[in-house]
Amino acid sequence: MGVKKRIAVITSGGDASGMNAAIRAVARYGIYKGLEIYGFYEGYKGLINNNFIVLDPASVGGIIDRGGTFLYSARSERFKCREGQKEAIGNMKNNGIEGLIVIGGDGSFRGAHELHKQGIKVIGIPATIDNDIPGTDYSIGFDTALNVIIGLISKIRDTAYSHDRIFVIEVMGRNSGIIAINTGLACGADFILIPEKKVDIIGIAESIKKNRASKRHTLVIVAEGAARASEVASSIKLLVGREVRVSVLGHIQRGGSPTALDRKLAAEFGKKSVDLLIEGKSDCMVGIKAMKIITQKFEDIFETVKGIDESLYNLTDILSR
Ligand code: ADP
Repeated sequence: MGVKKRIAVITSGGDASGMNAAIRAVARYGIYKGLEIYGFYEGYKGLINNNFIVLDPASVGGIIDRGGTFLYSARSERFKCREGQKEAIGNMKNNGIEGLIVIGGDGSFRGAHELHKQGIKVIGIPATIDNDIPGTDYSIGFDTALNVIIGLISKIRDTAYSHDRIFVIEVMGRNSGIIAINTGLACGADFILIPEKKVDIIGIAESIKKNRASKRHTLVIVAEGAARASEVASSIKLLVGREVRVSVLGHIQRGGSPTALDRKLAAEFGKKSVDLLIEGKSDCMVGIKAMKIITQKFEDIFETVKGIDESLYNLTDILSR
């Protein structure tokens, strides 16, 4: 019997729910296809430190429903320079690893692209709650985060309604308003502040005053990239003359057991990424477009910024009137 081909998998950058399900899919499908799978801990840091485990089917048992990543994630400054990359490549070569699957976001894919330029075969699996990676409708973790957030906002709405309150709720999303728009639509938010649109506090305040008779409570969702919720709340309070409560949801948005959609994506992305390495492909990520699993060259996604869906933004506005 010949030596088995060996590939590695890492989770890198911000953790996202469903990363574990993706590791499981890569490991079990890879083994099914006759490969050996190494899991390196802490993303690129683990590649530099040669810190890994050999994944067998049992080692990825019982993790499909757990948030975070059992291979841990990390950010590695050292990997950003050639020296660090050379150390990582040296370790992969010494271990006989022929390809690498990187589960992460845009930054992690830029690192993978550097490895590709130095002769390592790399495939990316998009995983970030922000869903800001161009070239795919969904990244792993986004759907779970939306569901966690709408659960939290529903609780806030109970209090807002009962006490006749204005609430300003800050959600994650880095420089993108995608989480804010999607949760705003799903929660029936009255206003959504996103970095892609000019923030108009005076307009919001006037609208709140005008609709005072028909609206008992008001929900304002602020994307973290647009403004600080506390500042928005102070301005509204000043202009409207009513109490305004603030809730910054923070890191509870990132954890939790993955939704059905994120688990399904993890399974399909995992399978596709292993197939691509077997076919000798590199320098691309897997994704989903119009419910079909697709591939995208890294270079194409690096040159694009994922915009917001204007129609969703407008619909939220119409439905809040
Ligand atoms: P995400 O993948 O969630 O966007 P980061 O942007 O923090 O997360 O990137 C994760 C890691 O990827 C970084 O800590 C670094 O090691 C590596 N990385 C990011 N950008 C580059 C780059 N331009 N070149 C090489 N490595 C990079």
